[in-house]
Amino acid sequence: MMNLIRDLWFKRRDIVSQGYDDSLEYISRLIPLEIVSVPTGTQCWTWTVPEKWEVNNAYIEDLEGNRLLSLEDHPLHVMSYSLPIDQVVSKEELMKHLYSNPQRPGAIPFNFKYYQRDWGFCIQHNRLESFNEEQYKVFIDTTFEEGSLKIGVCTIPGEIEDVIVLVAHLCHPAMVNDDLTGVAVLVDLAKELMKKQNHYTYKLLFLPETIGSISYLSQNEEIIPKLKYGIFLEMLGNDNIHALQLSRRGNTLIDRVCQYVLKRKVEKFNEGPFRKIVGNDEMVFDGPGIFVPMPSISRWPYPEYHSSDDTPEIITGERLNESKELVLEILRILDLNYYPKRQFKGPVFLSGYGLWVDWRVNKKLNQNLEQIMLRLEGDKSIFDITEDLDMEFDDVLNYINAFEQNGLITRNEVH
Ligand SMILES: [Zn+2]
Repeated sequence: MMNLIRDLWFKRRDIVSQGYDDSLEYISRLIPLEIVSVPTGTQCWTWTVPEKWEVNNAYIEDLEGNRLLSLEDHPLHVMSYSLPIDQVVSKEELMKHLYSNPQRPGAIPFNFKYYQRDWGFCIQHNRLESFNEEQYKVFIDTTFEEGSLKIGVCTIPGEIEDVIVLVAHLCHPAMVNDDLTGVAVLVDLAKELMKKQNHYTYKLLFLPETIGSISYLSQNEEIIPKLKYGIFLEMLGNDNIHALQLSRRGNTLIDRVCQYVLKRKVEKFNEGPFRKIVGNDEMVFDGPGIFVPMPSISRWPYPEYHSSDDTPEIITGERLNESKELVLEILRILDLNYYPKRQFKGPVFLSGYGLWVDWRVNKKLNQNLEQIMLRLEGDKSIFDITEDLDMEFDDVLNYINAFEQNGLITRNEVH
């Protein structure tokens, strides 16, 4: 994961750009990826796909030719999707187009105006005091042309066509935690899932934030009814506890499985309702007319957010691994979960079927044998029973699987 991050982090991965396309191409060499292209100008529900944008050169000089800011020093110095300009402007005018963050005066902020036409530079706040001339030469050489917004789709077929969708965005230039860490974890998850025989079909999506999700879903509406659950991933490498943001409904199976896994795997984590922790593509997938339950997992907040301080130094592979393991466990439980349906009458003669569990082997299971037997009517899943009885998922699963092996239950196909 750290190799991917080191290779891609400094690229200019704007929403429709060469740097973005190159990054997607890089990922396609690691895992099988179908590239979905949506051309500039395509109407996607209420949105329109923007032009491909490139920046070749940009600087600010005083009238003696002293360079005060240059694109060569850092990609973030030019606002993403800035218009071109070649003009002498007053200090007052320049200040309207210079973006800085007084809360983090030594860092260049990440700023973008994808849909409003404007020009702009981003600069360290503590450098503004050196701008004390009356006039400046501003030069930005950018191009807007017809292109295609690209979405990378890694599909891992399962036993059923119902899909669990995992989403990360790839459109933040020269930054790491937001958003490359989600991408790196997703690539590793794809490799792990491909090694297994899965019940669900998995789709792992790499896309530009918001417009990428809208483009993908609007151009592939037939997929929407198959999407059962989703997880959005980003900001997973910094040294902070996890933040679980629940789906819009907040109590769906995937929300509860996320809570169950986090409670067991990490000492502490934050939890909040939909859109109260972070805002990302879950607003599209779990949004109006789509409504796929999509919690998000991150390590929000972190102080270097949306700035030139979001570098490989602020993250570790260890943190990424922890997050990856959490997601794998969530998916494992979802994948193994099913609705057991009783095929017997009267209490089962447990010891006759080898289903008796001694309290010395598993006390909790021993205490709950009857309670489990009373919950096999096909309306409760293994995970529901686990929650009902405050047990461990694997204990309940293995026990009910033994009922299945004895022909005492069948699997209800309701999901
Ligand atoms: Zn962001």
